[in-house]
Formats: sequence, structure tokens, C-alpha cells
Amino acid sequence: MGERPSRAEAERAVATLLAYIGEDPARPALRETPQRVIAAFEEYFAGYGRDPRAVLGDPLPCAAARGQLVVARQIAFASHCEHHIAPFFGTATVAFVARERLVGIGHIAELVEVLARRLQIQERLTQEIARVLEEVLEPEGLLVVLEATHSCMALRGPQQREARIRTVYASGCLAGERRRWVVEGIAE
Ligand SMILES: [Zn+2]
Repeated sequence: MGERPSRAEAERAVATLLAYIGEDPARPALRETPQRVIAAFEEYFAGYGRDPRAVLGDPLPCAAARGQLVVARQIAFASHCEHHIAPFFGTATVAFVARERLVGIGHIAELVEVLARRLQIQERLTQEIARVLEEVLEPEGLLVVLEATHSCMALRGPQQREARIRTVYASGCLAGERRRWVVEGIAE
């Protein structure tokens, strides 16, 4: 990767895009738009500056948790597709059968956030969330279910405005439960 461009250069690039679509970047209502777009990008993509492993913190040893199913449902996330920089958003549900380690549910939500605030595809986001949880929790089984609406699909190409995409990662003792999970709709 080359040297990171300056903020001013990034703002000029937005002005170039405005001119490219046929707009006048100098008209009063658009004058501040490049700065606003770059400020918004810094929010959308705040995940690049953060280590997903670190946001989970140290797991809490808890012998009483062994064998218990822990489910964190409907964690909202917003991400952007790496093909078109178009938003996709929805919810993540994480379920694991604990070995002897727990982490706070708030930390799981933060993990989803850090990984979502990057350019992603839903399948890789699902897998990256799962990898970090497996590394930190060493669970007996893990399920990560993401369900999202893709503006890529809603606004361009197929124009499917209602379609939701579900991705499922399942491992360990929950791998065999994958089908049942989907059928019973625990992630609904
Ligand atoms: Zn896309």
C-alpha cells in the first residue's frame, strides 16, 4: 500500500466525483460536501484503527459456565461492501457453548462493530467475527448468524429492495445444530 493520502487530498477526490456525476462542486449547497463525506467516511470506517482481538478484552474464567449455551441476539451493525462502497446493514446473532471462558455481551457487540466498520463482504465479516471469538473463548461450539439488507442489491443491479441475506458460521458441537437453528429461526 502506498502512502496514506492527506485529508485534503481525500476531499479533493470527493469533489472530483461530484464533478464526474455532472454536479458543480462549487455551488453553495455542495461546497462543504467533500468535508462532510470524508468526516462520514471516518465514522463508517473507524474499524481500521482498532484491533478486534483487543476490544474483546481478557476473557473471564468461569468454571460454572462450562457447557452452557450463551446467545447474544440481534446485535445491530452497519458495514459497506468492498465492491461498491455501498452500505449493508442488519443484525448479528452469536451463540456459543462455553468451555470455561466468558466475555461481556457488550464486548461481543463491540467486536461486531469494529469488524463491520471496514470494507467487507458479509461472508467474510461473519467468518472474522467467528475467528476472534473462537480464539478468545475456545468455545465447545459456536454459531454466528448475520442477516443483512444490501443497498447494492436494493439500488443497483437486481433492485431487490426487500431481500435479506443470511450467512451462518457454525463449528464444534453447534455445527450439527446449524440446520435446526435455521429451521427453528432462533435468529429471527
Ligand atoms: Zn456491492
